[in-house]
Amino acid sequence: MSAGSRVVVVGGGLGAARTIQQLRRRGYEGEIVLLAGETHLPYDRPPLSKAVLAGARDDTALRFDPAALRVDVRLGEAATGLDLDRRVVRTDAGEVGFDRLAVATGARPVRLPGRGEQRTLRTIGDALELRARLVPGARVVVIGASWIGAEVTTAALARGCSVTCLEAGPAPLAQALGREIGTSLLPWWRDVDLRLQTAVGAIEDGRVELADGGSVPADVVLTGVGVRPETGWLEGSGLELDRGVVVDQHLAASAPGVVALGDVAARWSPRVGARVRIEHWEDAGSAGAVAAATMLAGEGDQRPVHDPVPYFWSDQFGHKLQYVGAHAPADQPVEREPGETPGRTITWLDGAGRVTAVLTVDRPRESATAGVLVAERRVMAPAELRDPTATLQPA
Ligand code: FAD
Repeated sequence: MSAGSRVVVVGGGLGAARTIQQLRRRGYEGEIVLLAGETHLPYDRPPLSKAVLAGARDDTALRFDPAALRVDVRLGEAATGLDLDRRVVRTDAGEVGFDRLAVATGARPVRLPGRGEQRTLRTIGDALELRARLVPGARVVVIGASWIGAEVTTAALARGCSVTCLEAGPAPLAQALGREIGTSLLPWWRDVDLRLQTAVGAIEDGRVELADGGSVPADVVLTGVGVRPETGWLEGSGLELDRGVVVDQHLAASAPGVVALGDVAARWSPRVGARVRIEHWEDAGSAGAVAAATMLAGEGDQRPVHDPVPYFWSDQFGHKLQYVGAHAPADQPVEREPGETPGRTITWLDGAGRVTAVLTVDRPRESATAGVLVAERRVMAPAELRDPTATLQPA
């Protein structure tokens, strides 16, 4: 692309920041415009539910220097529409033309019905406001015992709140880890009024109404029941959407010169043989290099592929969970028997005995090796995995 060209990046989070850094690292000399819906320069989200809620940090800014990167950063200027024929992004402040476009608008938390005050946790503002409400004795109702719910519960307990957690499924983290492993985590929740298989009807003033007719009093309600890709501004643009912006393994969207990455992208994964949408920090961060390369590639140039083994971590109840890969519901979880080393290692095997995913608890070194086994689809025997003296080893 010529030095007179313009790349527009829509987003303002991790994926956007990494894409811009990679454009410059790869020698792109043209104009870059960043349309960021929030009024902050790019910052990190994982610490919001961890160090920020705990009171250990107020700021999670990413290393991103607009002057050094020569970026025209437009904070608070959200994209409202896209015209692919005229190649312009619409905003309330006017139109911005582009030669290449990167969509990195992330995801938006799901909200539940009702007129009562309902908090979600996605932005630094959400985290600071929630933290101010987590005061000793506050009755906090957390809806959803998944990753966000578990981390907010951890912070609320540490700040002296009394916590009720309402979970529609049969165990904490059951959707992600399955009922059996989720149930094994129940001892961590002993200081919480955890109500499983409990569906919420609506959030009203000072209480959460349950679907079965009961209600739970609440000073603070935090809804952590998942997110939806932020694609509203692209509706009707002609860009292919299907639970996210549809992209190929090079992150190229259905229109020429347009890429998408991070939580908003529904990308083709050759490794899985299906389209996936990954809501993990590691994925959004590492995708920036491929998004930049794909935008800069000329006709006939080879383009890199973005298809890493998924990796996610969570800090909850004083433990570090790290999950590598993706298991199918039918895969068999095999846990190493307790030995001298603290922590846990659970490995999922598919019907052919291949490793599809590994969960470690408080064993960070093993988590790194686990990624290799998942990538290799290593065939392992359950007895080998149960052996308390074994550790996961690369070939
Ligand atoms: P985002 O970081 O969401 O950035 C998208 C940005 O685009 C936002 O600033 C948004 O306001 C902006 N935007 C939206 N619409 C528009 C528009 N129309 N115009 C302009 N801008 C727009 N992942 C892990 O792997 N481990 C963790 O422990 C972990 N913890 C997390 C804790 C919390 C509280 C949250 C919220 C997320 C956590 N994640 C974690 C997920 C991880 O942070 C995300 O996967 C990552 O931030 C995705 O980056 P992104 O750039 O795709 O989207």
